[in-house]
Amino acid sequence: MQFENTLTFAQNLDGSDRLAGYRDKFHYPQINGKDVIYFTGNSLGLQPKNTRSYVDDVMKDWAELAVEGHFYAEKPWWDYHERLAKPLAKVVGAKTEEVSVMNTLTVNLHLLMVSFYRPTQKRFKILCEEKAFPSDQYMLQSQVRFHGLDPDNTIIEVKKREGEHFWRTEDIVSKIDEIGDELALVLIGGVNYYNGQVFDMKTITAKVRSTGAFVGWDLAHAVGNIELKLHDWDVDFAAWCSYKYMNSGPGNASGIFVNERYLNRKDIPRFEGWWGTKKETRFLMKPEFEPMHNADAWQLSNAPILSVAPYLASLQFFEEVGMSALLEKQQLLTAYLEFILHEVDKQVDSTFEIITPKERGCQLSVFLHGEGRPLFDYLMKNGVITDWREPNVIRLAPAPFYCSFEDMYRFGEILKAGILSK
Ligand SMILES: *Cc1c(COP(=O)(O)O)cnc(C)c1O
Repeated sequence: MQFENTLTFAQNLDGSDRLAGYRDKFHYPQINGKDVIYFTGNSLGLQPKNTRSYVDDVMKDWAELAVEGHFYAEKPWWDYHERLAKPLAKVVGAKTEEVSVMNTLTVNLHLLMVSFYRPTQKRFKILCEEKAFPSDQYMLQSQVRFHGLDPDNTIIEVKKREGEHFWRTEDIVSKIDEIGDELALVLIGGVNYYNGQVFDMKTITAKVRSTGAFVGWDLAHAVGNIELKLHDWDVDFAAWCSYKYMNSGPGNASGIFVNERYLNRKDIPRFEGWWGTKKETRFLMKPEFEPMHNADAWQLSNAPILSVAPYLASLQFFEEVGMSALLEKQQLLTAYLEFILHEVDKQVDSTFEIITPKERGCQLSVFLHGEGRPLFDYLMKNGVITDWREPNVIRLAPAPFYCSFEDMYRFGEILKAGILSK
């Protein structure tokens, strides 16, 4: 498609956007009395308007039924989380039984490490990307120390090449070869939070599996943002948070994937609790743990319903739209944003370098050469919510549910005015 940097062109794209109706189904913060242009769905998605009723229902059931709500609420609490598995499995390309919703992301990574990081004298090394999200680094380091090992010679990082802003799959593959049978686990963020790169999860997973090591993915920036086929790729395990592209609300429930080959097994090391034991016999309060037949075996506690309900609300949209329509809009919208950036670049002295490689979801990370924090402040003051990373990178994530083509056009105008106003 031949893009044009005009309001009419952008509005025409909105006119033929099948998802355009979803804009009205979200709440927008206001700046100067107008809805903001929201680019930080990669940090915290906007609130869907239907979320409140899901939460209100739980509050009402709690008020009116109290403990009886566990079994007699319209959506009973004792198995409330099970409602999420099916729609969520579609989003991540899994079988329903491979998916569960529980806890929060870092907690779940720790729990999955209990099952999938079993270092031995020989096989103990972990491979990850350099400068992984800090929580993932702390998680890995503390797990390694917990096993009595030294992170310095246990955690191996794949680096970017000198002068490049992205990781190369072949460098990851050759690192895996280099570590050989000392490799216990590969755990990488499927979409990098900083540069927006999508890793070749299919190739890397197949490579790791061929070595006998485990492979897990942190999908915080991937879920709801790119196509995932966790089952077909034969991933061992994965976890993600739901408050970024999945719009479930701050700190709300996380999701996990456990490959079906690890289900229905008592020989898997796991930290266990009563919500992971078979629901048919759970309330017999037996001393013996009988794992649920699905990924719910990793559940510990009765579910935090007020944190799970908003996730169910948001999954309704994913069900209605489907990932392929969402991704189709996302690709066009991000391509249009890229075009707008190049157009503005031509009209001002500063140069923009998009450091996101072509393997991407909706995020574009942009190095604004010659600009600094004042430009970011200008954007925020003028109704563009984005985020700033030192020295001068802004991350722009136009989430397809609630960002429009007109937003991209208007952003370009504000950006240009901000640079020219210096
Ligand atoms: C957002 C994000 C997290 C956040 O972890 P929480 O436990 O939900 O606070 C962790 N890892 C990655 C890669 C992230 O992008």
